[in-house]
Amino acid sequence: MTIAGGCRCGAVRYTLALDDLPPAYACHCTDCQTWSGSAFSQQALVPEGAIDVSGPVVVYELTSPSGRISRQRMCGTCHTRIFNTNSARPGLAVVRAGTLDRSNELMVTAHIWTRSKQPWLELPKASPAWPEAAPPDEMARALGFGR
Ligand SMILES: [Zn+2]
Ligand SMILES: [Zn+2]
Repeated sequence: MTIAGGCRCGAVRYTLALDDLPPAYACHCTDCQTWSGSAFSQQALVPEGAIDVSGPVVVYELTSPSGRISRQRMCGTCHTRIFNTNSARPGLAVVRAGTLDRSNELMVTAHIWTRSKQPWLELPKASPAWPEAAPPDEMARALGFGR
């Protein structure tokens, strides 16, 4: 089955060359809260080459204090954020998992930046969680990569 998604207005559409929905995680950092206007962002790590995107994509680039360059791709019409890449993780893209057509089937299997999690939100006890960013190898395990 094709894994596809798109922005709120429908001008940007994308497909992921994957066999199944990617595993998702939630980021509770305050940047994600601001950016999403919500309690956390729901994201999925995919190989950058697996994304085939069409439509009026615009890029917002920002450089972190440590010099990492984040390139955010969004719809130029409705400004929905679709995915981003980061110079610290070449070849990997982070998809805003809520833009997937089948987002209702996503399982969030890990939580990062729980230090700034909204206090009313109770996380499942069994879910791996980190107060800040997760070490890449631990995150890969939590998402089921390399099994
Ligand atoms: Zn749009
Ligand atoms: Zn975040």
